[in-house]
Amino acid sequence: MNLGLLARAFLLKDQLHIKPCPRCGLHYDQREPACRHCGTLDDQGLKALLAEKARQHEGNAAIGRTFLLIGALLGVFVLIVFLQR
Ligand SMILES: [Zn+2]
Repeated sequence: MNLGLLARAFLLKDQLHIKPCPRCGLHYDQREPACRHCGTLDDQGLKALLAEKARQHEGNAAIGRTFLLIGALLGVFVLIVFLQR
């Protein structure tokens, strides 16, 4: 077995313990006593965490839409340049 494969096996072994938290939905190592995201939060703190998570998700989706638009515009530009030859 080569060293890369061995390192990968160790990484996969660690990932087996990382599962989504039933309370907040974020992934954490289940060998830890509590979720590191919401383990110390009360219900109000959890609500704030979930709102922040939703806000970040919306921000990432907006970036994705922007890049899709830029890609489409570049595609149209390349098509126009090729058709003019
Ligand atoms: Zn959690």
